[in-house]
Amino acid sequence: MKRLKFRTIFVMLFTGMLIFGMLALLFFYIRDGAYWAAHRPSGSITSGQIVDRNGTVLYDYGGRSYSEDYETRVSTIHAVGDRTGSIATGARQVFAGKMSDFNLITGINAKTDQLKLTLDARLNVTAMDAMNGRKGVAALYNYRTGDVLCMFSGPVFDPDDKAQLEAINSGAEAYTGAYLNRFLSSTYTPGSTFKIVTTAAALETLPDVEDFSFRCTGSVSYGDHSVTCPREHGWQNLTDALANSCNGAYAELANRVGSETLETYAQQAGLLDSVSVSGLKTAKGSFTTTSVPIDEGWSGVGQYKDLVNPCAEMTLMGCIAGGGTAATPKLVVEQGGIFGVKPETSAIGWQSATCQRVKEMMRNNVVNHYGQDQFGELPVCAKSGTAEVGGDKAPHAWFTGFVDSDQYPYAFVVVIENGGWGSSEAGSVAARLLEAACE
Ligand SMILES: [Zn+2]
Repeated sequence: MKRLKFRTIFVMLFTGMLIFGMLALLFFYIRDGAYWAAHRPSGSITSGQIVDRNGTVLYDYGGRSYSEDYETRVSTIHAVGDRTGSIATGARQVFAGKMSDFNLITGINAKTDQLKLTLDARLNVTAMDAMNGRKGVAALYNYRTGDVLCMFSGPVFDPDDKAQLEAINSGAEAYTGAYLNRFLSSTYTPGSTFKIVTTAAALETLPDVEDFSFRCTGSVSYGDHSVTCPREHGWQNLTDALANSCNGAYAELANRVGSETLETYAQQAGLLDSVSVSGLKTAKGSFTTTSVPIDEGWSGVGQYKDLVNPCAEMTLMGCIAGGGTAATPKLVVEQGGIFGVKPETSAIGWQSATCQRVKEMMRNNVVNHYGQDQFGELPVCAKSGTAEVGGDKAPHAWFTGFVDSDQYPYAFVVVIENGGWGSSEAGSVAARLLEAACE
């Protein structure tokens, strides 16, 4: 009798534990099932592909494999993402979950087996070749449709090369920030590319600005310090001052416009906000107001504490081309609303007449200063920047602008970290990218 009682208690206890276990499992299944479905033990979904706009396979979820072509694989690594998810903005992590649905009854339900990016992998390869191992950004987009055709960030690495992955993880200098997509997630001192903002502020707030005249002697002194130019530019009107990128003239314009107004125009240009690129938020730029005249002068020249994100700069270029508005950059080709990528418009707060005048000046920069030859027949409007970064380091080289054309409505941005002279170094990367994009 005692033994029977013991057995009954044992069975009841065991049954109770079983029921409790099943209820707990059900609870977690309902609560976390969708997450489990999207995050299999392999770290991602187990079938489907990431392809570029032409259908070139960049990543296969089934084999966890990248493109077999070395240049394609490496040049698109920041767009696609690495296997460990260290590149936080990689499509492989960010968009994969949307390719499938989780249903309590049927489990996983594939919505699509293809994640198509707006990128043209061929252009990423061109950008990588042109950057030639230098760190930075080279990107191009269609300012009418928003499609980002090229998004290159360096340094790159090969996800199939174990030695390289170990070098990154051990902090080798050649790979500093290798997991960062600099196009989306970095900010840089803009240097003279910021003179576009100062120009717009001057055009809209200084009544006599078209009569502006400034004699550059190579430096303007502010007490013990001075704002300097690389050479003596002589007499400058507004158009000359932008083409020659005369720091003295722009410091003078910044002082006349004032620090708060400059900040307003940087804000209106979208440079202080985050851009949402298919849901990926870009880093915000910054502008610091000051009542110290020399700092105010340098801030209008794109130095002092100015910081700009390359994607925001590229979007600004699209907006100038479009007379104040442009399509917001996007990275994913939408398929029936699966990815939640809506066509969006970016707008700057500048008048269309201001955009038109800035466009003319940027066109003049190319024709009379940078050289039209390198761009063939393309009506390119651009501004270079050679951003001093302090210490013994070479300046960051910038080149940004757009093609003023219905056939090739492209805006672009190139930044080469410690790359030297903007118009020559970054300008030649932009020229190669445009040549490939406008074939
Ligand atoms: Zn000058």
